[in-house]
Amino acid sequence: MALWRQPLDRDRIRIAHGIVHIIDDRCKGCGFCVEFCPQGTLAISPHTNAKGYHPPEIVPDVHCINCGLCTLLCPDFAIFIEDGGKHTPDKVIPIQRYEGRDE
Ligand code: SF4
Ligand code: SF4
Repeated sequence: MALWRQPLDRDRIRIAHGIVHIIDDRCKGCGFCVEFCPQGTLAISPHTNAKGYHPPEIVPDVHCINCGLCTLLCPDFAIFIEDGGKHTPDKVIPIQRYEGRDE
């Protein structure tokens, strides 16, 4: 069902935005971060890291809300989030970075 009503204060709504950092070579491909991210920001990547596992990658145009859940869940400290400030929903800029991989 399409939502046709918008909050009257929509222009004043500010949502948190996180910059995702993935340290590929620490990852063991357990998938916890992918499974539990409430935004669906992460997906298992097709490439392998130095250990032969598939680390997560960032899904294009799906914004991290800086909830920190992936950092808490990761058993190998392979993912962390940098505060990207707050933005109105229409002005969220997808600032997301990879680490440990040349592309
Ligand atoms: S901080 Fe939250 S929204 Fe962002 S990638 Fe991690 S689990 Fe997903
Ligand atoms: S939770 Fe950590 S070890 Fe597991 S897939 Fe995500 S980054 Fe890799």
